[in-house]
Amino acid sequence: MSENSVYHDYDVPQNLEFKTIDIVRMGGLKCSCLLDAKYLDGLFEAPNRIIQVAVELSFSVASNEILVQGRVNGKREVQCARCLKMTTQDFEEEFLETYSNKQEIIDIMYVVRQTLALSEEIRFLCKPDCKGLCPMCGQDLNVAPCHCEPENLSPFAALKGKFK
Ligand SMILES: [Zn+2]
Ligand SMILES: [Zn+2]
Repeated sequence: MSENSVYHDYDVPQNLEFKTIDIVRMGGLKCSCLLDAKYLDGLFEAPNRIIQVAVELSFSVASNEILVQGRVNGKREVQCARCLKMTTQDFEEEFLETYSNKQEIIDIMYVVRQTLALSEEIRFLCKPDCKGLCPMCGQDLNVAPCHCEPENLSPFAALKGKFK
């Protein structure tokens, strides 16, 4: 983050659990770090996954509370809900949280995980007009049409195809 930060020597805890007393003593903190992927395991529904996350944090100390501004950015891999193709995309999210300075630990990992979980697109499409896969033969219809009979394309067609 800021190259001029007075606190650039502060050792950012890998699990992002900051001791409130440290933050108060320093009168605030600006820091950034790359997150170890093990903290993000299972956050997205497979096969979607987070590949890389960097976190930037700014702690401001007020009389009774600590304000934390955070920016989370990185790369994730998501699957198209129609054609099942995997796409790698960049993302960036921000959050703003207030903590009482009476609590012992400021658990930023919790907020980061929550922010990332909320950012997951439930039905991601590789493009708005993705044609998807043929439910009968599995052909990617974005690439080429298939020769299945159109009348077979009922909601049950996919099932029928499986038990042939
Ligand atoms: Zn698609
Ligand atoms: Zn087909």
